[in-house]
Amino acid sequence: MKVFYNYLPNEFSDVEAIIADWKKLIKSSDFTLGEFVSNFEDKFKKFLNVKHCISTNNGTDALILSLKSLGIGPGDQVITVTNTFYATVGAIVAVGATPVLIDCDNRFQIKVNDIEKAITNKTKAIIPVHWGGASPDMKSIMDISVKHNIFIIEDSCMGIGALVDGKAPGTFGNVNAFSMHPLKSLNVMGDGGMVVTDDDKLAAWMKKYRNHGMIDRDHIEFWGVNMRLQPLQAIVASHRLDQLNETIKKRNENAKYLDNNLQNISKNIIIPKRVYGNVETFALYMGLFNNRDELKSFLISKNIEVKVHYPIPLHKQKAAHDNCICSSDFKNAEDQANKILTIPVHQFLGIEHMKYVVEKIKEFYKI
Ligand SMILES: *Cc1c(COP(=O)(O)O)cnc(C)c1O
Repeated sequence: MKVFYNYLPNEFSDVEAIIADWKKLIKSSDFTLGEFVSNFEDKFKKFLNVKHCISTNNGTDALILSLKSLGIGPGDQVITVTNTFYATVGAIVAVGATPVLIDCDNRFQIKVNDIEKAITNKTKAIIPVHWGGASPDMKSIMDISVKHNIFIIEDSCMGIGALVDGKAPGTFGNVNAFSMHPLKSLNVMGDGGMVVTDDDKLAAWMKKYRNHGMIDRDHIEFWGVNMRLQPLQAIVASHRLDQLNETIKKRNENAKYLDNNLQNISKNIIIPKRVYGNVETFALYMGLFNNRDELKSFLISKNIEVKVHYPIPLHKQKAAHDNCICSSDFKNAEDQANKILTIPVHQFLGIEHMKYVVEKIKEFYKI
């Protein structure tokens, strides 16, 4: 049996419907923004039940556009978590602001208790990350935002299809970012991203900034850039959105099996607690495992393609030395970096694969 990590060949094994729409696009030659892009934006808007969706090139651009729209730049500080993908911090640096990194909790999410200590008079925003497709304590984060009058930009790049007590990631903050990179729960055949907001003024500014600051082909209101989503990808995304609920359901069934069969079976294994009422996308099913590196080699030798996200937290990266403020003890992130392991639970695996994974983990620890 093979528990494979890359499911993209399976996902795109039948592309007839996508190609049929691509043919329509090619006929219209509406290759920059246009109808297919705005149709997908409308569909995403309905899915999330928000006022504005502005699609972008990728998730990193979505974060940069979000930060820019709120006027965040040089001299400003933005708080985020040390165990996230590089782009969260890269986007803060790209707009000229200073990242302030804090620790994570035992669910691998931003440690809410450390946020207030990191706030200074330069703090403009907090970027909570829905890391791995689980969600941080959004209610407490929103309370902190109100109390200190600080913007929230959700990094919901892994959170499409998740729920926080019935409410979707990307619907809490002021301006929020999504990614449709191949490894996310809603993915295209390359890069794609989305910014979401209920603020009319910010949305109008972002639509222009994304497209050179253009009012129309002959008039520029301010200098912008090109962050446009490709219509070819908007079509892929639109088809994938139709399958999203089924995708999330299957992943949750697989994850539930692992939870039930790995939690509390050995002190060598820690599976994070699930928050009652939340739905996760399981972009990454992560647990903490003693002797992680040996376990990883063992599982790979048994055809179980596990990964590590990530062995080095961002505050320890060379890139962080000069321009990040470290505002935590990072006890959790550093401990987790040595033990964390990601097990595939994607929608092209079933309970038989999960049984095999549990069996092999038990064999390794002699349980
Ligand atoms: C994927 C990801 C990004 C970046 O998205 P891209 O589309 O790859 O640019 C940012 N933050 C998080 C948490 C991500 O998982």
